[in-house]
Amino acid sequence: MQKAEKKESLTLYRDRNVQILLSKFLNGEIETLEPVYDSKAGYRYPVVEAIVGDASQVEPFLSKLHAAGVLEKKLYDKTIFCPKCGSANVSFRYCCPFCRSFNIQKSSLFEHVKCGYMDIEENFLEGDKYVCPKCHETLKKVDVDYKKAGIWCTCEDCSKSFDIPVPVHFCRSCHTDSTFEEAFIKDVYSYTLTENVKAESFLNWFLVAAIREFLTKEGLTVESPALLKGKSGANHSFDIVACRGDDPQKMIVVDLATSTENIVSEQPVIALFAKIFDVSPERAYLIAIPKLGENGKKMAELYNIHAIEAENQEKAIALLKTSLKT
Ligand SMILES: [Zn+2]
Ligand SMILES: [Zn+2]
Ligand SMILES: [Zn+2]
Repeated sequence: MQKAEKKESLTLYRDRNVQILLSKFLNGEIETLEPVYDSKAGYRYPVVEAIVGDASQVEPFLSKLHAAGVLEKKLYDKTIFCPKCGSANVSFRYCCPFCRSFNIQKSSLFEHVKCGYMDIEENFLEGDKYVCPKCHETLKKVDVDYKKAGIWCTCEDCSKSFDIPVPVHFCRSCHTDSTFEEAFIKDVYSYTLTENVKAESFLNWFLVAAIREFLTKEGLTVESPALLKGKSGANHSFDIVACRGDDPQKMIVVDLATSTENIVSEQPVIALFAKIFDVSPERAYLIAIPKLGENGKKMAELYNIHAIEAENQEKAIALLKTSLKT
């Protein structure tokens, strides 16, 4: 993942709606996010609509996650919209190339192998048997006595015959015909979680769950993720906020920072400092998996942030436990 994408995805992870969608991917509720067809609106993503609340926000939301490298997309289908009224309730008609009527009959073209006579299937039919109209021989076996030589269409309106019909879109809403050139066609995608995001968020997800459980066992009231209002009036989100009793002065905030490149930068230290400056918790923890860079360590000390470096969740919890007692 690119650096810019990475930073972007970290900001995204703080978004409540993103967290809800990711949790559905991570707990197995969604493996692939597939669109559901609705004859009026075209394809929709009801799961995402329920999260973002507003159907018009679904596409920008998914595009944002795709652009940030969180979601991978795959072409699922194409929706055809009526160029006149915009409805997705469009049907496909095969029409006569001569008079444009959709009142055409499709037949199979038969060939009698022995005499070479060719005609449409209906003209070979005599009762429930196939009989050659030219030499009157009865045809029994396909590919032996007779061959299917293709498709033949006849227009019921102008009586002309042809082998390839012309496709026309018919809008069921406003009853307008449109051609391929006129139609508005839109790509529809299915989405999956990017592999490295899966690994990264899995780590975050399980780590947060484990720490939450540990703090609850320690008798603290835990909220995760949590939104706290600062002195400035701004809201700040933390991965975990824990309180002893109802005393807001005894509040502990925890943020997690994981790095797939082995060293966590000072960025999460700075971000956490900006938040605790406004919120003033009793204690602030930054759990860096697996390591915090030198600059980050210096800054954490300066900003009075307890930095915990651990390569796995057991070690992180053990260090947190020791630190809580001091
Ligand atoms: Zn229409
Ligand atoms: Zn015709
Ligand atoms: Zn024949």
